[in-house]
This record gives sequence, C-alpha cells and structure tokens, in this order.
Amino acid sequence: MNYFSINQVFGQPDFSILYQLINLMNFFTRLKAILVVTVVTHTLGYAQYSYGIKPIAYEAYTNSVKHNASNELVNLEKFIPGIVLDIRYSTTNNFTDEKIYNLARAYARRPVAEALKKAQAEFALQGVGIKIYDAYRPYGATVKFYEVYRDTTYVASPYKGSRHNRGCAVDMTLVDLKTGEELKMPTEFDSFKKEAWPSTKIKDPQIKKNRDLIISVMEKHGFKVNASEWWHFDFIGWQKFDVMDIDFEELE
Ligand SMILES: [Zn+2]
Repeated sequence: MNYFSINQVFGQPDFSILYQLINLMNFFTRLKAILVVTVVTHTLGYAQYSYGIKPIAYEAYTNSVKHNASNELVNLEKFIPGIVLDIRYSTTNNFTDEKIYNLARAYARRPVAEALKKAQAEFALQGVGIKIYDAYRPYGATVKFYEVYRDTTYVASPYKGSRHNRGCAVDMTLVDLKTGEELKMPTEFDSFKKEAWPSTKIKDPQIKKNRDLIISVMEKHGFKVNASEWWHFDFIGWQKFDVMDIDFEELE
C-alpha cells in the first residue's frame, strides 16, 4: 500500500505526502524543499512512521512537562512502595518471542501513577499487591507488535496508537503479599483466548473472586478494564495525553 492510499483510507495527512510532492519538483527546488521538511519535522520533535501518527519524541515531551506537570512519566517502581515488576517485553517470554525493550521499566503519567498508588494501598488491605507486566510503551513497540500480529482485537492499531503509548494503560495482575505468588486468574497474560475477556463466565469461584477483585478496585480508582483482556486497564481521561515514542533509556 502506498502513502496516498493509506491517507485516503484513514484521512490523516503525514509528512510522507510532502516527500512524494517533492519528487515531482526540479532538482534545486527539490533540494530546498527536502531541507525545509526535514528541519520542520525535526524541530517539531516528531518521529517518522507511515501510519499517519506523529508520536512526540523526548524534546517535545520535556517541553510538555514544563507546561503541564501531569504529563510527567513517573517510574512506578520508585513511586509505589512494594509494587512488583515482571516486564515481559524486556524478556523473550511474550507473544512475539522477542526481547522488545532493553530495560525492564514501568512508567506512567503522573495522575495514572497516583491512582495506581491508591489502588495498591487498597489491595494491600486484602493482603495482595500489584504486579506490572507492562505500562508506558514506546510507539515503536506498538508498530512492531502490529507488524508481527495484525489482529487489532489484541494488539493496538498503529493508525491510532495504544493507550500504553500515552502512558495511560497498565497490564497487571495481583500477587499474594506474603508468598509473592500470583493469584489465579482466568488466563495467562497476553492470552488470545476468549477466557481472557472479562465478560466470559468463570466456573472456578476462587478465579472469579480474584478477577472481580482486580477489576473492582481498579475501576474504583479511575481505570476501565479492556473488553478482551482482564489484565489491561485504561486510565479514564487518556485522550488528554499524546502518543509518545521515547525509549526507557532516554527517561533514565
Ligand atoms: Zn495492555
């Protein structure tokens, strides 16, 4: 599919159209135009992708934090006492069988981190804690998932970006605070089975109780469970935050 047909279908202009127009110009005009487009796209801090999305890069992100503190990506491991990380995309233990991240990190926007901290405190009253599988995810990883597995029931469409890319979604489960063991849930993380849907009936009363607990506490604290993934929670108000393509290394 070429860029023109992508844009006709999805109606989102991107810089590649400009590059195609440039190809129609004479040599010197072309050189000047390429220079202008390159300077403009770099100045705006956009990373280049062909899905019509212009995720913000590190510089634009730091500027956005200066204007609005709620844009800050907060390190959840430092911010929430006792939270456990099992960042599957920093290992080969995920549906791609590839290591996607170089570092095992969990970041979320400040209001998301604050809501999660309150949820963790409430879970603790029941003797359980949060284990994070994934939180903020750079846009480049979403593109990679889509190119591996093109079913947007389970992977986000790169034409829209994922709520993970906005720092407003967490993939998680619960662990027993005494033993550290995961509570039994309907499926494994990232299962593509129908049992992963929160609407699927569960026979086992203990599993049902665990699923009810994770969903009820998270929804009480400003999150909404995903319709096909019991482990995925979107922060309500995610629309206010931009899609980002910033690696964990840049946030350290
Ligand atoms: Zn997710």
